[in-house]
Amino acid sequence: MIYHVLTLFPEMIQQAVSHSILGRAANSGHISVNCINIRDFAVNKHGQVDDSPYGGGAGMVMMAPPVYDAYQHVLCNIQKNSDALSKPPLIYLSPQGRVLTQKIAEEIALSQEIILLCGHYEGLDERIIEEIVTDEISIGDYVLTGGEPAAIVLMDAVSRLVPGVLGKAESFKDESFSDGILEYPHYTRPPVFRERAVPEVLLSGHHGNIDAWRKAQAVERTRVKRPDLLGEIKGM
Ligand code: SAM
Repeated sequence: MIYHVLTLFPEMIQQAVSHSILGRAANSGHISVNCINIRDFAVNKHGQVDDSPYGGGAGMVMMAPPVYDAYQHVLCNIQKNSDALSKPPLIYLSPQGRVLTQKIAEEIALSQEIILLCGHYEGLDERIIEEIVTDEISIGDYVLTGGEPAAIVLMDAVSRLVPGVLGKAESFKDESFSDGILEYPHYTRPPVFRERAVPEVLLSGHHGNIDAWRKAQAVERTRVKRPDLLGEIKGM
């Protein structure tokens, strides 16, 4: 998966993708993260990329031309490096977008290459959204200061679905949301911690009983923690 991230703060993105599983995925070539600093396309030598809103009001608005030029720069590089004629999807991280879910992450992971656009200040001039954005994704019903943390969340959720990014031991198959409900609880050594023993069945070695116990636990904890999810699954 190739990510192109249009941002005013490339270091935030680079820092976040250089550690742990994402860092390993980048080193092994399973993902590639190309940051484009929108300020490199500023409208003047002072590095201006924002201006006050028409109609008045608080805050500054990111100007359309620098974002458009940064986007064109990405498209030119993509076309230079491949025969693909179609443009990759451009996702604007925005509190006004579809709220990111596992299902949406799975949908995005089907692409080979995507462009992410991070806003700042009051957001973007509406005309650049109309001109280049193909999807708007929010990471929740709250407002961040910028799109970078949201882009990092999206790349994390999507990258772990890219074949080869997770080792077998880290498989996402049984995880929360993979089949619409939360995952069962986990335990590791020691067998007793502050008088709390590991459930007997997990020590039994009986795989059928362990599977049945885990399924029942997954349903029960979903009923307690996220009953809304059960309503979405037929037959529960
Ligand atoms: N004025 C905008 C509004 O009320 O819809 C909010 C702008 S916000 C302060 C600045 C930038 O942060 C946005 O352009 C967007 O890129 C990002 N952002 C803020 N909240 C977000 C969220 N929940 N999900 C994704 N991106 C978000």
